[in-house]
Amino acid sequence: MTLPIPGENGVPKNAIVHGSCRSWWTGNERSHCGGCHLTYSSLTAFDRHRKGGTCQPPESVGLVARQKPYGTLWGIPAPVGGYGALYGRDEAEDAA
Ligand SMILES: [Zn+2]
Ligand SMILES: [Zn+2]
Repeated sequence: MTLPIPGENGVPKNAIVHGSCRSWWTGNERSHCGGCHLTYSSLTAFDRHRKGGTCQPPESVGLVARQKPYGTLWGIPAPVGGYGALYGRDEAEDAA
């Protein structure tokens, strides 16, 4: 296997590639874990799977999988108030 190259073979130019696991994703706010090599939609989602300082299976901490062109993106479930409720309120994610 070779490393994905941004801008080639369907990989977007703005892709971020993790060399050690050959994952790629897009979005500067993503958090890719160097431990379990899963990609999280935000630092909040990342922090949630690191409960106790070790990687937890994301589904066990309430994160949901979303299928992206690059694979699975783990994120916070959509809040009751819609995605708009996520912005500007950290606690909005905990209410989901
Ligand atoms: Zn992890
Ligand atoms: Zn990785």
